[in-house]
Amino acid sequence: MADLVIRGGTVVTAARSFRADVAIADGRIAEVGETVAEAHPHAPILDATDLLVLPGCVDVHTHTRLPTEEQPERFFADSVAAAFGGTTTFLSFNNPGTGISDEGSRSLIAGLNEFRARTEGESAVDFGLSAVISGQQDDPIRELPELIASGVPTAKAFMVYEFRMPDERLFAALRAMGGHGGMLQVHCENATIIDALVTEALERGNVGCRHHALTRPTYAEAEATHRAIALARAAGAPVYIVHLSCADALAEVAAAKARGWPVYAETCPHYLTLTDARYDEPDEQEVIKSVISPPLRSESDRGALWLGLRAGGLDLVATDHVPDRLALEKRCPAPPFPQISNGAPGIETLLSVVHAEGVAGGQISVERMVDLLATTPARLFGLATKGAIEVGRDADLVLFDPHARRTIRHSELHHTSDFTPYEGREVAGTVRSVLLRGQPVIQGGAFVGGRGAGRFLERSTVV
Ligand SMILES: [Zn+2]
Repeated sequence: MADLVIRGGTVVTAARSFRADVAIADGRIAEVGETVAEAHPHAPILDATDLLVLPGCVDVHTHTRLPTEEQPERFFADSVAAAFGGTTTFLSFNNPGTGISDEGSRSLIAGLNEFRARTEGESAVDFGLSAVISGQQDDPIRELPELIASGVPTAKAFMVYEFRMPDERLFAALRAMGGHGGMLQVHCENATIIDALVTEALERGNVGCRHHALTRPTYAEAEATHRAIALARAAGAPVYIVHLSCADALAEVAAAKARGWPVYAETCPHYLTLTDARYDEPDEQEVIKSVISPPLRSESDRGALWLGLRAGGLDLVATDHVPDRLALEKRCPAPPFPQISNGAPGIETLLSVVHAEGVAGGQISVERMVDLLATTPARLFGLATKGAIEVGRDADLVLFDPHARRTIRHSELHHTSDFTPYEGREVAGTVRSVLLRGQPVIQGGAFVGGRGAGRFLERSTVV
């Protein structure tokens, strides 16, 4: 018995595209084949004629905000935004700034327990936690085995910011994660170089928003990427480079991969579509939207990243969603640039932007897009039931119209930011329906899911 049959669509996997029906039973994919609909004459039908049937996107890099008394809707609202964009699983970091308490940010286990308690019954799609290991925690390395055993096999450490990890602790974290089947994610920027450039800029009175980008050169990112890889190699551990933004850093990852080392890297939609020309805008209100770390890079870096996605130097695309607001965290007149919150929203625009620029733009195949947005993130992050249209996997599915054109406008998005970096961008392709474990979440342009329908995912060990 099938609970639902998706009929007549083009099923896309990381390997191939083919016309097939998909039968769903008990929330899982039960059958995929040409005559599945005929075999289930009494099952409800969802017509997918002229549509692509994609696995739901797995966005492994978000900084969603925890619900608070003043803003009880925020986590739920961003999960709804994810669903509208075709993302059925997201991972959140619970770094300071996401609303975690002081107690929760001092210990990894306390942080996990608080995250689970405060997100219980909130999310519209499935989600999980990626922890943050910081220089401000009491003894994070000791807690890593328990964290991994509790379903959080990945955690991020920073080489910059005041909560950065010095090299010797980064090394210890890499070894502890790798030794227990986990994987450390590293924000790679050289703090010595950046701090010196920032000090110099401030001394010259260069406090404007654009100086944020000018003080974070590509060689600072590349050097830190090289160092993180070297430390991982010495630790005998895998390492995952978050939000890689430039050709210089990509070269470090590609060289490590060529040697067969377990080095993985993601890039983000904004590095694939926007450039540092945005920092030339005369209006600070425009520039502040692109205050992110690493900053937007040159047109040639942008080209190199697409090449990296085609050739395999880059493993996946994730959003680094930060729901900052122009009315609050990014208000103008802005303070001197080091005090501006870093980050920009993206949880809702991942699939449309990557499809429009990547697939419709001729950079990657639709199969490679599925690999980058669903299959590889699920595999690398210990989500065995997610990320592919295969019998037995969760029926997290997106019906996608690749030909429909639309213009991205903040006023039509559902995220909790108050702007989008893609305002006015015309994109080819739009999400028609989204299913989470076989249940409709988006239908006919409307949210039809439920608050709390999404489950916290305890993940298995990775790679
Ligand atoms: Zn991030």
